[in-house]
Amino acid sequence: MSDKTIIPFPSRDGDVADLLHVQKPDKAFCRHQRVELDEKNRTIECGDCGTLLEPFDWALRWADKLSRENQQVIQMRKERASLLKSLEVLRLEERNTKARLKRARESAREAAFTQQEVTFAKAQLRQFMEGEA
Ligand SMILES: [Zn+2]
Repeated sequence: MSDKTIIPFPSRDGDVADLLHVQKPDKAFCRHQRVELDEKNRTIECGDCGTLLEPFDWALRWADKLSRENQQVIQMRKERASLLKSLEVLRLEERNTKARLKRARESAREAAFTQQEVTFAKAQLRQFMEGEA
């Protein structure tokens, strides 16, 4: 046996909680989404956590956010225009397909009618031939 220190593995009975202590900060992370502007003191304070925000940093952050959102709007408008073009093509294809289907049904109806005429003519011919015999 060596003289190394053996650290016991936690048992299933829950002594893991004794080994792991996660310390959480007093305040949860705040993104300072809701701000209060104090015109008199020219300050910006977070309405959620109360942190006094540096006005230029806050303005820069929101300018960046608005710029990103504006880029998203531009991208979405491009996608919308592209989708509208695709939709127009699909509508045209649908209209053409419906017209082809209508013609095909008419042809099938005519073919079925012709088949009935042929069958009827054969039956008449058979009767005639039987009558002649
Ligand atoms: Zn905050």
